[in-house]
Amino acid sequence: MFLGHLAVGLAAKKATPRVSLAMLLLAAQWADTLWPVLLLAGIEHVRIDPGNTVFTPLAFVDYPYSHSLVALLGWAVVIGGLYRGIVGGRRTMLVLGVLVLSHWGLDFVTHRPDMPLYPGGPLYGLGLWNSVPATIGIELAMFAIGLFVYLSTTRARDRIGRWGFAGLVVVLVGAYIANISSAPPPSVTVLAVAAIAGAGVMTLWAWWVDRHRDVVS
Ligand SMILES: [Zn+2]
Repeated sequence: MFLGHLAVGLAAKKATPRVSLAMLLLAAQWADTLWPVLLLAGIEHVRIDPGNTVFTPLAFVDYPYSHSLVALLGWAVVIGGLYRGIVGGRRTMLVLGVLVLSHWGLDFVTHRPDMPLYPGGPLYGLGLWNSVPATIGIELAMFAIGLFVYLSTTRARDRIGRWGFAGLVVVLVGAYIANISSAPPPSVTVLAVAAIAGAGVMTLWAWWVDRHRDVVS
């Protein structure tokens, strides 16, 4: 899932309007941001396997530290705790923690049974990815709702806030569609480097445009 995670991050703006959208998206996508780093380090493993599910050509061999429920619980505490320690805010700590954990819930719905409960533990997954129309329909609907909540919580202060944000939305939806319709990645290295670059661009872009939008009180 991609747009579905971002939808949860967008919607979280309503709960913590003072927190940058970049931080909210990063928390919701923490598992998928850490994952390519661990792939490059050789700690977690993926195999390019066209047809693994009809939606993705990836076989998630193991990803205990980025995608097990227990590891994400740990990351939720670390990320929420760090934010509270550095910036402050009990409510923000809780929201960021829930966002980090929400990744497991959504991936549990989409993946085939490859989501570990804890490193080396049993694997779960409902396999929404076995249906392309259902996956796209649910993700787009979630994204539309997240977008609506974000747009009703904030208002553009200037052209960057309006058109810069619109550009971000177009690029994210475009990347999602391109990812579905393009050939499988040529190698795990290419996949991981592209994922890290994409996460970096998305985070900086979200941070930039969110600063140009005011919270509607
Ligand atoms: Zn994931």
